[in-house]
Amino acid sequence: MPEWLSGVVLSRFARHIGTMTVSEHQHALPQRGDLSLAAAEAMKAHGEQWTEMRAAVFGALCELKTPSSAYDVAELVSQKLGRRVAANSVYRILDLFVAQNIALRIESCNAYVPNAHPGCMHDCIFLICDACGSVEHLDEDSVGQSVRSIASGQGFAPMRPLIEVHGRCGTCLNEMPD
Ligand SMILES: [Zn+2]
Ligand SMILES: [Zn+2]
Ligand SMILES: [Zn+2]
Repeated sequence: MPEWLSGVVLSRFARHIGTMTVSEHQHALPQRGDLSLAAAEAMKAHGEQWTEMRAAVFGALCELKTPSSAYDVAELVSQKLGRRVAANSVYRILDLFVAQNIALRIESCNAYVPNAHPGCMHDCIFLICDACGSVEHLDEDSVGQSVRSIASGQGFAPMRPLIEVHGRCGTCLNEMPD
C-alpha cells in the first residue's frame, strides 16, 4: 500500500480491499460521483488542487465510456464549460492524473481511462477490442511480477511493465457471422 494514501482515501477503499492481497482482487469501476470524489481526495492528499478545470477533465474522462485521447476529452470539456479548452492543457492535466494514480494511460491507444483503484497500485492489464474499441481492465499482478522478475534477472530495474492485449471482446465475437 503506498504510504502517500490519506486516511480518507484508505477508509473509502478499506472495505473494498479488506483482507485480500493486492494480487487477488478486482476493482469494479465505481459510480461516477464516487470515483470523482475519490479522485479529488487522492489529489488533495498529494497537495494537489482540485480545480474546476481538473474536475471537468476528470468528469469528461468518466463520461466518455471508451478510452479517450486528450482531444476527445478537450472536446467534451469545451462543450461543458462553454469555452474553447486546448488539448494541450487537457494533456498536461491527464498526465498529472496518471502521475497521481487517478487515471491510467493505455499506451498502445494513446488514450486515458479513469482509474478504478485510485487508492491501490497495480500493474494493470488492458484487454483492448480492436473492433468496438472497448477496454477491459484487469488487475492480476502475478503477470506483472513475472515480467518484473524476468527484467530484474537481466540486471534491469523495471519501473512499469505495460501489458496491453489487443483482440476481440466477447460481445464482438458473438456478433461475428459464422
Ligand atoms: Zn487494488
Ligand atoms: Zn488496475
Ligand atoms: Zn468489441
